[in-house]
Amino acid sequence: MPIDPTLPYDDSNIFAKILRGEIPANRVYEDEWAIAFHDINPQAEVHILVIPRGRYVSWDDFSANAPAEEIAGFVRAVGHVARAHGLVEPGYRLLANIGRHGGQEVPHLHVHLFGGQFLGPMIAR
Ligand code: 5GP
Repeated sequence: MPIDPTLPYDDSNIFAKILRGEIPANRVYEDEWAIAFHDINPQAEVHILVIPRGRYVSWDDFSANAPAEEIAGFVRAVGHVARAHGLVEPGYRLLANIGRHGGQEVPHLHVHLFGGQFLGPMIAR
């Protein structure tokens, strides 16, 4: 079920549990601002999720409310993970789903990082 991105942050969401270490995840990167781990149901050869440590429901919440330092730290973390996986020259795709039309399922901001193969059209028709 897609989430409502206007609701307050819910500390019981699955990515909050991963951040607290209550649920295992295959982590590939972590720093002060973000952690990254493999998606449990990969949609491409490389499918990594990058999430901020901060409590943000969605990209909307993050872009409106996060301090500039936290936004910079998160964006740099996403770029770092892509470089560390050798994705820059062949290319890759970033995706953030927001709310109902975006099909967002987990109410903690996450950026999908896809790569390792040609990714086809931007949106399925
Ligand atoms: P959304 O549709 O919200 O943009 O994407 C949520 C993503 O989280 C999906 O790609 C889904 O496979 C992934 N996911 C959901 N639960 C877990 C989990 O417990 N662990 C990991 N690693 N990924 C998860």
